[in-house]
Parts: sequence; structure tokens; C-alpha cells
Amino acid sequence: MRDLELKTESLAERDQKHLWHPLTQHKTSPEMLPVTKAKGCILTDDQGKEYIDAISSWYTAVYGHCNKYITDKVAAQMQNLDQVVFSGFTHEPAIKLSEALVKILPKGQQKLFFNDNGSTATEIGIKMALQYHHNLGNDRKVMLAFEEGFHGDTFGAMSVSGLSVYNGAFEDHFIRVERIPVPTGKNNAEVIEQLRSILADKNIAGFIYEPLIQGAAAMKFHDAEGLNEVLKICRGNDVVLVADEVMTGFGKTGRYFASDYMEEKPDVVCMSKALTAGLLPMGLTSCSMKIYNAFYSDEIAKGLFHGHTYTANPLACAAALAAVELLVSEEMQENIQRISQANLDFVNKLSQHPKVKNARSKGVIMAFELDIQTDRYGSLRNRLFKFFMDRGVFLRPLGNTIYIVPPYVISENELKKVYSVIEDSLSVF
Ligand SMILES: *Cc1c(COP(=O)(O)O)cnc(C)c1O
Repeated sequence: MRDLELKTESLAERDQKHLWHPLTQHKTSPEMLPVTKAKGCILTDDQGKEYIDAISSWYTAVYGHCNKYITDKVAAQMQNLDQVVFSGFTHEPAIKLSEALVKILPKGQQKLFFNDNGSTATEIGIKMALQYHHNLGNDRKVMLAFEEGFHGDTFGAMSVSGLSVYNGAFEDHFIRVERIPVPTGKNNAEVIEQLRSILADKNIAGFIYEPLIQGAAAMKFHDAEGLNEVLKICRGNDVVLVADEVMTGFGKTGRYFASDYMEEKPDVVCMSKALTAGLLPMGLTSCSMKIYNAFYSDEIAKGLFHGHTYTANPLACAAALAAVELLVSEEMQENIQRISQANLDFVNKLSQHPKVKNARSKGVIMAFELDIQTDRYGSLRNRLFKFFMDRGVFLRPLGNTIYIVPPYVISENELKKVYSVIEDSLSVF
């Protein structure tokens, strides 16, 4: 009886009974949109309306939703080995994934530590940096980070995030952090000066940074040469370099990793999001032998005593391995180049428009600011969101920034439609 009763209510109404959504003030938020299907670049809602997923569902489903190559591999894995404790045991999906990843990771990355999501990937990056120095007997307990960085929502990750605007309740419990602005090309000398004075003054253990593009700061780009200089100086001071590639990794910037644009390579790389292609949650933190060796000891306490129950879940590993196989394929690389070129052309066109500021692109990521005053969570973003959704395109503007991170498999026509609704918005807002 009860079940029948429930079925007369819409999914959106039933959602409100028991569910608490992320990053949401439920009192002022509109109803959640039920999605019943995702295939390729298309999301379908419970009314049958279709939307092009122009941000790859938060930068995850870059090979398209429910990609058959990946779902087949996961389904096969599911028949064979679903889960086993990764402490004391190992399995082929994790081993194969490590072999495939080490080939494409920035030079020097040799050891992989599994976790569950992007926040825990950075959390472990921070722990590696702090414990590296602890194990070596160095008194270094402060992290360095960029202003406006975002590294996740767990405590360590929140601490290093400059952007965490609603974290007032937790601030007393944060780890110690010093911040520098991102080098933009124009301010490089000042950034370096600030960096040098912090390094002289504070006991910096590690530097955590989103290489070249700060996603949550509304796709803020910075200068590769300036970043390279920052990394070089940090390395000279034995500061552990922790690259948070959770957003930028796996082809989005046009190369496998954003770190590939800099000569100075990270000591630690944090991965998630596109790692598992939107299919299953997983994070990874890789490191160089220099870091690993500081934990390798006869003393048990020098090990990294961190572990999640679902560490290296075989299904997630199978998804990630299939994803890497797709990423390195000629077809996917061509897709990435095609979208990168289309983005460059679109940026050129947009730049002529009087309402467009700072149009930019790198790889499949394209962003610009609408020349309208607003705040990050002001009403403009909701109106823009609705405008795009009404026209069948899922975009998630931040403040007055409109950006796309389309799946690599987006068709030319779908991409044209995304560009054209963006152009339409310029004459309405
Ligand atoms: C999304 C993101 C995170 C956090 O990942 P979650 O899986 O959401 O915890 C961390 N760093 C960056 C750069 C991200 O974009």
C-alpha cells in the first residue's frame, strides 16, 4: 500500500523527504532535477528532456557516460572479484592500473596510494608532505598553497583551500597554511619575492597547487613559466611538491596532465574525477621514490598508516584501467585535439564581443567572464543555469564565469549547439 502511495509523488518530491544534497542550502534552493539516464554526452531527465553534459558531470565522464568499453570491462570484473582487503592482499586490476598509469604520469612518479575521492587524494598528498619531513626529523609543519585554491572538503583539504568560503565552523581546527597568489605572468616577480620571504621565515613542508588552472576559482588560468619558477624554488628548499591534478588530469588541458606543461615535475600527484571516467568513485595519490623512501624503514611508525576500507576496489581499478586505455588511444587524442582547436576558434570569436571578458582556453577547457557585476553565488548564475538548461545544455556557471569541459566524445554538432546557446546568452544577459 505504502509503495503505491509513494509512486503517485514525483521523484523531485520524494527526494525532499530524506535526502540532503551537497553544497546546498535547502531552504533557498530550487527542487533537484531527477535524471533517469546518461549515455554519451546526453543526460535525460524524468520528463524525457535531454541535455548535453557540457561539463562532463564535474569533469568525470570525459569518455562519455556509460561508455560501453568501460562498462563491459567493469561488468567482466564484477563476475570475478568484487572486493578484497588491500592490506595484506593484492590483485591484478590494481597492478595493471599501476603499470598503465606510471607510463603516462609526470616523470618520476613511481608509487601509487589508493583512496576514495579527490579530497582524500589531496589529504594523503598533504600527509605525505608532512610525514616526509617528520620521518626525516625536520621541524616542518606548515603547508604552502595558492590563494583561491580548492583541494576538497575534508579537514586537511579544507585547510589548504583558499576558496572555502563557508568553513567558518571548522577554521579553529585547520592545519597551518601560508598562501601566495598565483603567478599570472604580470606579477611573477612579486609572487617569487613573497615566496622567498615565506620560505625564509616559515617551516614549509609542502606546496599543494592546482597546476595551471584553478577549477573551483572559476577556471582561473595562470602562467606556466611563473609556476615553473615557483616549483623550482620550492624544490631547492626541499619543499614537497604536491600537484592536485584532480580536475586537470587525464587530458583536459590537452596533455595527459597539466604538470606536463612545466619542466619542474611534482613529487606527489593527486588524482580522481576522470580517473574512473565517472563510473565509480576512486582517488589516487602517486609519489616519487624520494618520497616513498622516506617512509621505507625498519621502524613501523615511519609507514603511512592511512587506509580506507574500499582501497583499490577491483571494480574501480577496472574502470580506471579501461579509461586510461581509452585516453591513450589515437581516437581519443584526436578528439581532444579537435575540441581544443574548436575552443581556440570560439575564444577568438567570443573575444570580439563587448560583453565578453578574458575569454580563454586550454585543451577542452574553455571559459570567459560575462561583463556583469555579480558575486560567486549571486542570482546571475541561477538565471544563466536555467537559460542553458531550458535550451538543453547542462552548464554550471560560477558567478559571471561561463565555462565548458565537454566529454572528449562530444560530436561536432553537439559542440556547435553548446557554443551557440552560449552565444545566445550574450544577447539576453
Ligand atoms: C573536485 C576537486 C577536489 C575534490 O574532489 P572530491 O572528489 O569532490 O572530493 C580536489 N581538488 C580539485 C582540484 C578538485 O577539482
